[in-house]
Amino acid sequence: MEARNFLINLIEENGFKLKIDNVGNIFAIYDDGCEPGKKPVCVGSHIDSVPNGGFYDGTLGVMAGLEALISIKEAGIKIKRPLWLINFCCEESSRFKTATIGSKIISGKLGLQRLHELKDEDGISLFEAMSKFGLEPQNLNDSILKEHSLHSYLELHIEQGPVLERSGISVGIVSGIAAPIRFEIIIHGKADHSGATPMNMRSDALLAASHIIIAANKFAKNKKTAVATVGYAHAKPGVLNVVPGEARLGVDLRDIDKVSLEELNLELRNFIKELSGELNFSYEIRELSSDEPVKLSEHAINLLSEEATKLGIKTLTLPSGAGHDAMNLTKLASSVGMLFIPCVGGISHNIAEAINFDDAFKATQILTNALIKLSNE
Ligand SMILES: [Zn+2]
Repeated sequence: MEARNFLINLIEENGFKLKIDNVGNIFAIYDDGCEPGKKPVCVGSHIDSVPNGGFYDGTLGVMAGLEALISIKEAGIKIKRPLWLINFCCEESSRFKTATIGSKIISGKLGLQRLHELKDEDGISLFEAMSKFGLEPQNLNDSILKEHSLHSYLELHIEQGPVLERSGISVGIVSGIAAPIRFEIIIHGKADHSGATPMNMRSDALLAASHIIIAANKFAKNKKTAVATVGYAHAKPGVLNVVPGEARLGVDLRDIDKVSLEELNLELRNFIKELSGELNFSYEIRELSSDEPVKLSEHAINLLSEEATKLGIKTLTLPSGAGHDAMNLTKLASSVGMLFIPCVGGISHNIAEAINFDDAFKATQILTNALIKLSNE
């Protein structure tokens, strides 16, 4: 909330129109001298983070977007289309185990029903949490934007991986975004005395979980671009002298290739099914999210690369392994593009996250010039 208020103050101090929708997305609008009725050119990202997260994931894109708007306004550069800076709410949302909630809502991909279904560890629904935060989730429908109601969307983000740094290149142009399939597996074994239950009479839920974790890792390694992570394993009752009767696993599968992602998903689920017979357990799979990988627009990719060339900045085209708000915006805008800058050691979702400010400066220049171009189309 403090970070949001900080951003809101900056938007108002710089004389932009402020709009906050019912679910908490923050908009800064600059439309001085624009032609009426033109679709807006948007730039944005998010300022929320993960527990113990760093300073740049998301925040870089919002601050760079704001800087671009301020520069364009101060220089009195003529624009035909309005410029919107969007700070998407709940992009990370580790608490509700679903990512990019704000941009999913405005693009009509996440409805009211889901706000009631998504619950945190304490059983509080996202709907309740939003209401308590002073938002109006019951009016979610008013926050949905019409398909193709935006002209374009650009986002600058840290790479969150090691490719740019290893290549010694300051700015990356993103070709496509991998999408995560996320689900929770609840394994029901049988809690028994750890001393009195013979090995062949057990149904150990945590043992089953360990096989699944290793299988997920192995299946992903056998694919070209896929990654698989089991981010948590909670065992019950979770004491030393009881065979674990229940285990919960959080699974996150990603790929930029849709077919390969579906294969990986199926492979892992088939494995769990077979394993349940072998190790004598039952299980449930709770679906958390299923996003589709997206290709970013040729138009945006070419424009960003042209603007970089004009500024004498070398770029590299690369896919994004992490999900971003931009993937949801492809429903709202025909031109969607993303820029990456390296982060030190590829480290992200970690307080040690660091960037080189010269890279951020270069990328923000490209971003600003591309926004000016788009807003005159
Ligand atoms: Zn992010």
